[in-house]
Formats: sequence, structure tokens, C-alpha cells
Amino acid sequence: MDVLLVEDDPEMSALLQAVLESRGHTVTTVADGESGWACYLSQHFPMVILDWLLPGIDGLEVCRRIRCCPKGASSLILVITVRTKPGDLGKVLAAGADDYLAKPVDEPLLNIRLEIAEQRVKNLISLQSHESEAVEAKNRLSATIDALPDLLFELDLDGRYLDYRSSRRELLAAPAEAMIGKTVHDVLPPKAANTVISALQEAHQTGRSQGSQIELQVPQGQSWFELSIACKPDKAELGPRFIVLSRDITGRKKTEAALAAAKQAAEAASRAKSTFLANMSHELRTPMNGVMGMIDLALRRATDPQQIDWLNKSKGSALRLLAVINDILDISKIEADRLTLETIHFKFGEVLENLFSLVSHKAAEKQLKLLVDLDPAVPHLTFLGDPLRLGQILINLTGNALKFTDHGSITLRARLLEDNPEGVLLRIEVADTGLGIAPEDQKRLFTAFEQADDSMTRKYGGTGLGLAISKRLVQLMGGELGVNSTPGQGSTFWFTVRLMKSNEADQPAPTFAQGSAETRLRSEFAGTRILLAEDEPINQEVSRDLLEHAGLVVDLAEDGQQALDLAKQNSYALILMDMQMPVMNGVDATRAIRALPGCAQTPILAMTANAYDEDRQVCIDAGMNDHIAKPVDPDKLYETLIGWLEKRGD
Ligand code: ADP
Repeated sequence: MDVLLVEDDPEMSALLQAVLESRGHTVTTVADGESGWACYLSQHFPMVILDWLLPGIDGLEVCRRIRCCPKGASSLILVITVRTKPGDLGKVLAAGADDYLAKPVDEPLLNIRLEIAEQRVKNLISLQSHESEAVEAKNRLSATIDALPDLLFELDLDGRYLDYRSSRRELLAAPAEAMIGKTVHDVLPPKAANTVISALQEAHQTGRSQGSQIELQVPQGQSWFELSIACKPDKAELGPRFIVLSRDITGRKKTEAALAAAKQAAEAASRAKSTFLANMSHELRTPMNGVMGMIDLALRRATDPQQIDWLNKSKGSALRLLAVINDILDISKIEADRLTLETIHFKFGEVLENLFSLVSHKAAEKQLKLLVDLDPAVPHLTFLGDPLRLGQILINLTGNALKFTDHGSITLRARLLEDNPEGVLLRIEVADTGLGIAPEDQKRLFTAFEQADDSMTRKYGGTGLGLAISKRLVQLMGGELGVNSTPGQGSTFWFTVRLMKSNEADQPAPTFAQGSAETRLRSEFAGTRILLAEDEPINQEVSRDLLEHAGLVVDLAEDGQQALDLAKQNSYALILMDMQMPVMNGVDATRAIRALPGCAQTPILAMTANAYDEDRQVCIDAGMNDHIAKPVDPDKLYETLIGWLEKRGD
């Protein structure tokens, strides 16, 4: 270590220097008090050896000065003295020295004293370093606490404030120090105080940290605080203590409240949109049922070929209008995120058969070849999924191919990309040799309302919705939809879908030759009495005529209440129930009828013009057995009636 030696006697100085150096120290020697003091100030010396009697200021004065300066406490000071008068040692110690060395020097004794001094210096240095570490840690901690935006304090089990380690901020308008000794009941409103006490008790009982929230009225307004309460290691004599971190979460709460309000508003808007859609569906399909039903009735009676031609053309127009209405309702459902898929068993081959029955006539009309290139396994596979929606995609793409192709062919390809025990990934392509699509138009066609030709002089009709709807349906089926096309050469629209395999035994759907359902109904169930609940006069006429035409006996109820009254008085083989009716709706009427004696098993079929799959669920939940969509397809109606009337006979 560095030792400062202040000694005016050269011999003594040389001797001490030699001894100190032999002990490994670096020695700075000076010969008077002023130089010694100046030397001490210029450098730090862990050990200072001062002769008492010196020219200028003496050693004791230097010692006093050292002890008074800031770094003086960290030096060990030894004073050399020849005086051994009583009281001398007292003076030496009073000046602040740690020990003394007596002249003349006894070398072994000197070495012992130096050894002790060195040890003390080492202790001093390690003590100081611990102290400075502790001071540094304390400073760091208070800097951290000061920087915390939160409050940190200590409470006992009664909620008494013990330490506000808190930052210098104020809590509840009172300075932190003013809170010590008060309990949470003194400073918080009763509800908040009780919340804190319960959390303290919970923490005490479980030994686990607790979190809770309190709401307070502070000068800035309504505020929320989140408390995190942790048990302090138990010191039996002090009782349970808790460290509480209080965080102001008013900002977060306000954001949450704003988000909740926005969510509520969005949900209300979505509900309003859904109701609007359901109403629109009802309002559009109900008159369509009337128009199409009346055309069907007229076609049954018409004998004049000119009239039959006009009626068939009206029916064609009505079907086109219905397709547009369905597309608009579908795209609205997609935008309201309400489009869902069914999960039923079906055979892929049946979907293809249905497609061909719809498009082959048009292909023949345009003299286009309809080619099929299928993976041999594909038509026989049975799946769990939504065959109607899968068919809708195929009809859209094939319909477009037919529309935009004047010469050549349309090819339908199907390949199995993946085949696992649970399911398959199917790739289907519809390729045509038609108009083709310019590269810059290809992407936007999948957006609703977009068409390649958006001019006023466009040659081809259409709403521009088909591809957007198909894309969404394909996505819902876990696949993708895209196009490859060369203008003038043709287009290939392709899509992939994931379908679950069905383990259900192959159950072919009952098929009826056209018109045969009506014949069967008439021959097997003529005279069967059924109840028709329908409020709309034109639809009453259409449905009644269809049913009576097939030989059934129909009682008409104009609302749900009348239906209930009639069901009480008569026994019906089957009930057809409109959903939206005045006085009592179809759902309530069904529930009431189901509760009547003898009506628990009566087939009740909903006739609904509503757009949503959920509506079907509502019918089922109310106790209805099946669901017939409006506008009513006569053959489908007859097939469904046969199915339920036969079941009843089983
Ligand atoms: P729509 O056919 O009712 O207009 P789609 O969404 O089905 O609506 O198609 C959007 C547009 O994409 C069509 O108007 C047409 O411009 C283009 N398109 C679709 N299929 C083909 C095709 N096979 N060949 C050429 N163009 C097509």
C-alpha cells in the first residue's frame, strides 16, 4: 500500500522507510508538517506515519487536519513519539490517530505494530467497500422507486401504513409521510378499504400474492388503481407485513371501457344488419314465392302453346331474378360474417350429376363440348360437408365458362391432392376455350361487384358477385380459388377444398323421376288432412293449390293462433307452418301445438323465406321436424311431404 511518512530525523526516516519497503509498501517521505499535509491532499494514502515533533506544524495538527478532510476517515494514522509522559497517548488518540510508535524503535515491536496496522487498514478498506456498495445499492433502489410511476408501501394486517418507500408523489392528495400510522379505513372510502383488507387477509391465509382493483374519486376525477399485494417474509415479533404496489390503471380502464362501448355498438350494428337481412330475405322471397307459385299453377292449367311459351319465359325470368336475390343475400351474409356451412353426408358424384343436369342443356344450346376428366375414385367418395354450397361454386364457375365461351369446350377436372383416413384435399378445375381474361383484370374479379368489362356497352350480363361468393365459400372449406387465363385462348378457374370423409354407410338419397312425387302423393296419400298456416293471401293460394292438386285436404290458418285453435279441434297428418305471421308466429305456435295431447309426434314442417341457417335451427329447437325454403319448389315440397307422411305410417 501507499504509505506517507512524515519524519524530520533522516536516520529515523531511513530506518522506517527500509522496514516499510521490506514489508512491500511504497513509501513517500517528507520532512515537515506542511509538506506532509500538502502531500496527503494530493494523493490518497491508506497509511500515514507522522512524527509528533516536526518543523512548522506538528504531527498532531497534521493528524487533526487529515481527520477533518472528507477522505481522512479512510486512512490509518500512526504517530511517532519519544514522549512517554502520562497523557501523551491520550493526546495522540484525541488528535484522531489510531496508534503510536515509540522512539527509539525496537524493530521486532515495530514490525508487530505495523502488522496490526496493516491488518486494520485491510479491514478498513473492506468495510469501506461494503459500505459504499450498500450506499450505492440504496441509492439505486431509491432512484428506482423515485422513477416508478406507481406507489409502493408497506401495510400490516389491519391495513395500517408502515412505510411509504413510495415515490415523492402524493397519494390521495396527502403527502406520503402523513399517511404513516393511519389505516386504509382512515384514507380510503369504505368499499375500497374493505377490498384492500380482504386482499390482505387472503394473502395472509394463502401465503400467495394477491391482486385487486379499487375505484377512487381523486381530485383529477374517477380513478382506478390496481393493487399487487405480496407477503413480506414473516418476522414473528412484527406480525404479518405486506408490500403493496399500487398502479394507476385509469388510462387502461378508460381504454377498456371505450373498447367495450365500441364493441357493443358494433354488435348492435351487426344485429341490426342481421335483422335487416332476415327481413329483406323475407320481403324478397315472399313475393317471389307468389310469382313463381302462380306461374306454376298457370302452367298446370294452360293448354294454349303461346301461353305455355310465355309462362315458361316468365318462369325463366323469375328464376334469374331469384338467382340474383340469392347472390345479393349471400354477399350480404358474407359481409356480416354470417355465412356458415352445413355438415351433412353426401356423395361427390351426386353433386356432379346435379351440376350436369343444370348445365348440359345450355352447353348443347351453344354447341359446346362438355368434357369430364375425373380421378376415378372421386365420384364414389362420400364426404361430410355442404353439398349445396360445393355445388354452388361449381355452378358459378361452369356457368361463367358457358357464358364467356362461344366455340370449343368446357372441361371439368377433379384430382385428389391428398387422401388421408380422415379427409381429402380436392382440386377441381373448370377450363374453357373462351374469351380469356387480361392479366391486369384477373385479380380484381374475385372482389365483389367487379367484372372484366365494366363499360355501359358490356355484352355479358351478371352481377359480378359469383366469384366473390365462390372465393369465400372455398375459403370456408379450407381451400383456395384462382385463375390461369390467356386472352383469346381461354381460362381455367381452379379451386381446392378440404372435405372430411364420411363413414356413414352409403345411403342413396331417394330420387324421383320428374312429376313422380306428385303422382305418388296423389295415389298414396289422397284425402290426407293437413294444416297449412300461412298469412300472405297469394302464398295461401299457391300453397293450397299445390297441396290440393296432389290430392291432400287442406285446412288453412291465417296466423299461429288460428293454427293452434285448429290443431286443438282436429287431428292432422302433418302441419306446414309459416315462420313470420301476425298474432302468433310459427315458432310460438309450434311450441304450443307440441304441448297439446296427441300432437307430440305430428310432423310440423317450417315454410320459411328467411335467409339464415340459424333460422332453421330456431325451427328445430321449437320442435319442428323439417324446413322448406321459399320460394317453394313444387317437386321438393312433394318429396318432403311423402318422406314425412311415410314416416308417420311406419
Ligand atoms: P358475373 O359473371 O355475374 O359478372 P362473377 O363474379 O362470376 O360475376 O365474374 C366476374 C367477372 O369475371 C365476369 O363479369 C367476367 O368479366 C369475368 N369472368 C369470370 N369467369 C370468366 C370466364 N370463364 N372467362 C372469361 N371471363 C370470366
